[in-house]
Amino acid sequence: MAGKKTLLVLPGDGIGAEVMAEVRRVIEWMAKKRSVAFDIREGLIGGAAIDATGGPLPDKTLADADQADAVLLGAVGGPKWEKLPYEKLPERGLLGIRKEMGLFANLRPALVFEALADASTLKREVVAGLDIMIVRELTGGIYFGQPRGVDTLPDGTRKGYDTEVYTTPEIQRIAGAAFDLARKRGGKVCSVDKANVLRSSILWREEVTKLHAAEYSDVQLSHMYVDNASMQLVRNPKQFDVIVTGNMFGDILSDCAAMLTGSLGMLPSASLGAADKKGRRKALYEPVHGSAPDIAGKGIANPLATILSFAMCLRYSLEMATEADLIEQATRNVLASGLRTADIMQTGMARVSTSVMGEALVRELDKLVS
Ligand code: NAD
Repeated sequence: MAGKKTLLVLPGDGIGAEVMAEVRRVIEWMAKKRSVAFDIREGLIGGAAIDATGGPLPDKTLADADQADAVLLGAVGGPKWEKLPYEKLPERGLLGIRKEMGLFANLRPALVFEALADASTLKREVVAGLDIMIVRELTGGIYFGQPRGVDTLPDGTRKGYDTEVYTTPEIQRIAGAAFDLARKRGGKVCSVDKANVLRSSILWREEVTKLHAAEYSDVQLSHMYVDNASMQLVRNPKQFDVIVTGNMFGDILSDCAAMLTGSLGMLPSASLGAADKKGRRKALYEPVHGSAPDIAGKGIANPLATILSFAMCLRYSLEMATEADLIEQATRNVLASGLRTADIMQTGMARVSTSVMGEALVRELDKLVS
């Protein structure tokens, strides 16, 4: 097994600490049963950091994040800190760490577990076994492009405008991240744009095609217009492996793909930065859900989104695909055994707490390696 991996764990607020405790259980199992040595640092972010240090993102957290092989985050925010000035809000800690780590690629998998296929609003046969990944560019495009504004025209009417802008390096680095991921998955990338209308999309398509020919010809590349992609996502989502797209198209398509799976408590995510000389990328893994103040402290939160985020960390940052597979298989098995936290409860199943779900998952891991 490879050398010691450094993980920075940031439980954050609300259910963040509860779900992260179950990830710690899985990490302990990895150390004991798979001889994977982790060097775990725990840090502060969000409301917990405000209470302890006066600000949502302590310098120590950033320094530890810089040293770590990967960062695992629970969630931030809650009513206790809602009235603070904008710059001091817990959520600023999250935006701050993403910015400081230069995380430009947001990975949102849509994975449908057999046992939960009926929770989707789509027919079982359309979504059962679905495993796709949306790679969204996170720091460019129309959400940041200049010029932008609202002007008053001479006749008194107003004009609002934003600018969709992408440069060669921005397109190539996000496309490169998607191609690298495809090599660890099904080997296919579909690049989504609006090249029949937008100049910026014409450039996007040309640059993706160029990079593919130069460095990634082993990956199968296709292109699709965003309007067709949105239709295909609900018509036949299993045709996709990795979808790569710009900031705004990715924002919309990733939420659409998330709903194919049916539950917020099951959705992991990752954000990646640029690769260093050794090909190692800065990376932060977190569930898609927030701190869920309405259920915090009750011990009923679903820990699976955070545990699946840890599985993504193993696969994409730590070169431990086998262990990632084990966690995903254990998740399938635990769901097939009929255990459900409240958010995914179905008739005839057994309702369990956060910690019972974590314990059951570890038991399934045991069975898989015995
Ligand atoms: P939320 O995701 O926290 O909760 C939405 C609903 O889903 C709630 O009813 C909650 O109980 C339920 N839910 C969420 N995760 C669950 C889980 N693992 N198991 C069971 N049920 C779960 O979103 P919100 O209520 O809009 O936001 C609450 C706080 O979280 C706010 O302060 C918000 O700013 C923050 N937030 C943080 C993040 C993050 O840290 N990445 C993301 C979204 C929201």
